[in-house]
Amino acid sequence: MKEILQDLSLPALEALVAEMGEKKFRAGQLYRGLMRGKRISDITELSKAFKERLLERFEDEPVRVREVLTAEDGTEKYLFELADGNLVEGVLMRYKYGNTQCVSTQVGCRMGCAFCASGLNGLLRDLTAGEILCQILVVNARCGGTPEKRAVTNVVLMGSGEPLDNYENTVKFLQNVTAQEGICISPRNISLSTCGIVPKMYALAEEGIPVNLTVSLHASTDEERRRTMPVANAYPIADILKACDNYFAKTGRRYIFEYSLIEGENADIPHAEALAKLLKGRPCHVNLIRLNAVKERSLRGTSEKEAYRFLGSLEKAGISATLRRRTGADIGGACGQLRASRLKELQGEENDAGN
Ligand code: SAH
Repeated sequence: MKEILQDLSLPALEALVAEMGEKKFRAGQLYRGLMRGKRISDITELSKAFKERLLERFEDEPVRVREVLTAEDGTEKYLFELADGNLVEGVLMRYKYGNTQCVSTQVGCRMGCAFCASGLNGLLRDLTAGEILCQILVVNARCGGTPEKRAVTNVVLMGSGEPLDNYENTVKFLQNVTAQEGICISPRNISLSTCGIVPKMYALAEEGIPVNLTVSLHASTDEERRRTMPVANAYPIADILKACDNYFAKTGRRYIFEYSLIEGENADIPHAEALAKLLKGRPCHVNLIRLNAVKERSLRGTSEKEAYRFLGSLEKAGISATLRRRTGADIGGACGQLRASRLKELQGEENDAGN
């Protein structure tokens, strides 16, 4: 694979352009084109000769939209193809206040959570900062947005992959996506979701990019958490909570816990009470979501009724919580589902071809 130009900040692009013997203002033209989601070859302001030299070294289209599924509620699920043919997915959720895009940070994932489709085949590779950014640039442009008038207003790092397991690329992405001169999405409108890699949560607090920190908790005791999340063997809940408090102290940002309600596992009233006891008095919010059943996994979500009972119990105990509506459930909205099903089809095709 060639290098990815969208990995570079504007100053780094200026240095590159100078090194290539071009005038400085060319860097601005190039950068503006890229931030509008254009391919290098489509930036009309640049000379053909300069573009050809760039294309010897850099990918013309690092992230290509391969497929879009639109759900009844307007949610769009994207299957992106990377330059090396790998697939990752993203979702665009439409809300009254704007559009939130969910992006992937890795091809696959090595965290191995029992309910998640992203990790079914383990980790294939990390995405570069530019590949994460391009998912947004491409969707923003496709929806008629520009850096000045964005169609994508909010970003969540909740696609496939564990962002803090790809720490350097993720931080570089956060620096570039929040840069004044670029698409300039405010850290307040960005949420990073982690399964709780404690040392990296401390590191993130020091980066000076106060994004919202979301931790996938899904249980209130270590013993139960270990049943569905192998990462719980490495980091106990008590250490996660300390890291969250540190994040709050350093950034002033209230943190969020994701809690997927799994039938027969973590979704009854005693579990709600245990969760409330654990979180009582903390500057946090709980996002409940009914597990999206994943075909390859035997776990199922709770009924809506049980989910509301759980929510009511948390609220009664004074915990700020919401039950997220399941956007795009009819199009495989959960992490990794679309990629997993397309990979299976592709493997099927290969097998067919071999028969
Ligand atoms: N690796 C990061 C971000 C990606 S997952 C993390 O663990 O937070 C985004 C969220 O979706 C996480 O809270 C994850 O636990 C949850 N999730 C994964 N599979 C799901 C499913 N089938 N139904 C509901 N939520 C799921």
